[in-house]
Amino acid sequence: MKKINILDYLYPPRCPVCDRPVLQKESRDGFCITCLEKLPVIKGKRCCKCGRALSNFEKEYCSDCLKFGRTHIYDKGLSLCTYDDTLRDMIYRLKYGNRSEYALWLGKLLADTFAPALKRAGAEGVIAVPLHEKRIRKRGYNQAELLAKSFCNHSGIPLCEHYVERMKDTKPLKSMSRAERQNNLKKAFKIGRNDVKLNVSIVVDDIYTTGSTVDALAEVLKEAGVQTVYFLTVAIGDD
Ligand SMILES: [Zn+2]
Ligand SMILES: [Zn+2]
Repeated sequence: MKKINILDYLYPPRCPVCDRPVLQKESRDGFCITCLEKLPVIKGKRCCKCGRALSNFEKEYCSDCLKFGRTHIYDKGLSLCTYDDTLRDMIYRLKYGNRSEYALWLGKLLADTFAPALKRAGAEGVIAVPLHEKRIRKRGYNQAELLAKSFCNHSGIPLCEHYVERMKDTKPLKSMSRAERQNNLKKAFKIGRNDVKLNVSIVVDDIYTTGSTVDALAEVLKEAGVQTVYFLTVAIGDD
């Protein structure tokens, strides 16, 4: 039986899509049923590299990966949703609007959707994209880590904490070009102190834009002997 938590009554959990308190009867896993149906979950054919929804089903790769696919250091990615206004608002509230609870439900959805395939692919450990200490102090939490924790709880794939550390408090990547992003992320990450030997890893983040962040992480992971780096995000742009 589910334990009743008094805080659920004082602060009823809010649906990540509409931000209204969810009522048990009409909700599933923290989402209103109707909101869950509206979520732009990627269901059709995906790009073989980054996993975004393909606009042309006859192709193997999206237009971005046709151009830059070979330059990526990560091996392959999966994302839950195509980035749109709903995802933009949701991720904004998750990061800056004090709605860290969304990560619980989004992490579960990521696990329900992708854990079986990732386990078949031999995934051994999950690494959340680390935030610099300064930002954690400011925000109070790292949304990628909360997503990763929930994904791990529901998938049984272990979380590798402190596997990678963030050395540089990089500037926000939002308005930067691809080259500026790569430059900004140089030496941003470093392998932390750990005894775990990972062959196949999953990097978890909230959003995939150009792949610069995942690549910067994949680079240090591969230097440390990790053979395969998958990524998993809540949202990715369209093709
Ligand atoms: Zn809702
Ligand atoms: Zn792609």
